[in-house]
Amino acid sequence: MKKFMKKCYACGADVKQVKTKKEGISLNCLRCPKCKEEYFTSSELIKFDIVTGRRKMIRKFGVLGDSMILRLPNKILKDYKIKPGDYGVFEERPDGILIKPVQAKEIID
Ligand SMILES: [Zn+2]
Repeated sequence: MKKFMKKCYACGADVKQVKTKKEGISLNCLRCPKCKEEYFTSSELIKFDIVTGRRKMIRKFGVLGDSMILRLPNKILKDYKIKPGDYGVFEERPDGILIKPVQAKEIID
């Protein structure tokens, strides 16, 4: 884990990289030796959410035949009115991948 901060925001003491347990799940964090405050990176918190199943918007990559698949959350399908036969346009972005849904009926007149 990258040491994303040097000093505790609460008291100013030098933080140390340690392993900690949050609700039984082992995570890396930076801990203040003085006031015991713990600081987590967003990727450690995402790891926690995945393991605990707290995030509704996370899906695991799977395999179907020779392809790798990713199931879409129902909320996304509903909100974007995505139907079988519609298209997903992938755009590579600095922080991830954007999928732009395009409805099949918009293409075929
Ligand atoms: Zn502190």
